[in-house]
Amino acid sequence: MLNRLKLTGILSATALVLVGCGASGSDEAAVSEDGIKVVTTFYPMYDFATNVVGDNGEVSVLLDAGQESHGYEPTPQDIAAIADADVFVYNSDEMETWVPSVLESIESSDVIVVEAAENITLFELEEAAEEEHSDDEGEDAHSLDPHVWLDPVYAKEEVTAILAGVLEADEANKESYEANAAAFTEKLSELDAAYQAAFETAENRTFVVQHAAFGYIARRYELTEVAVSDVSSDAEPNPAKLAELQQFMIDNQITTVYYSDSASSKTAQTLAEATGASLEVLSPLEGITDEDQEAGKDYLSVMEENLTALKKVIQ
Ligand SMILES: [Zn+2]
Repeated sequence: MLNRLKLTGILSATALVLVGCGASGSDEAAVSEDGIKVVTTFYPMYDFATNVVGDNGEVSVLLDAGQESHGYEPTPQDIAAIADADVFVYNSDEMETWVPSVLESIESSDVIVVEAAENITLFELEEAAEEEHSDDEGEDAHSLDPHVWLDPVYAKEEVTAILAGVLEADEANKESYEANAAAFTEKLSELDAAYQAAFETAENRTFVVQHAAFGYIARRYELTEVAVSDVSSDAEPNPAKLAELQQFMIDNQITTVYYSDSASSKTAQTLAEATGASLEVLSPLEGITDEDQEAGKDYLSVMEENLTALKKVIQ
């Protein structure tokens, strides 16, 4: 059995070399014999791509946990890694605002580019929020909400887009990629069903959160997100906004403030202290530390933790 496996390995490696020779002169570059090389921008893209690729190659991520995913600046090494990859996966021009100019600068690369949210209609931010952060955020400010990966239904769309890009790069392993994507999509459907079931009959549907990352979840499950900061940062709101939030919490008897464990939670703490509310973690999944990943945390498990946290308020 072992011998047969080895032989198959040698045969397919030979086949790859032959294909490579036959294709020389065309623009199509076959993936190397080490398998497909996929470069992703930040955690959710990495998780989704890893689930699709499985053991057919290598998936890497440019942003470490804790690096500010909004308004990130790529390094020369990042750009070289993208140019050198078979497939590059990012969420959207609204999230990774630096991507379009980087892609222009590596036009000669034949990397296949996947904008995972390409087929999703992003919703516009409320005008008020937009005005507020355009003062201090300048050109990095978003006008559309990029946080689609937090909605399990849209996550499935992103997986479909990633699968299409991977198949374009490595048609030879089509069956494996399709089976991987189908298995992961099934889990995302189960996650969606769990969110639906948890919130179906809830009477309180409003939650207060530091980072405005949960607009798509709120829309999908008919909840109301009240955010302390805006979608693109955890910048502190002005005192008037803070006072308004404080009053809102008192009037609506809101006793929990959600914050992200990987970002500044100062305002959430201030609000919680002022209103006697408790603090709970709700992760926007913009990064998971290596330590947490080694402990087995991933997109699905953190989404389940988020659901458990939300159920304390939405009930
Ligand atoms: Zn965010």
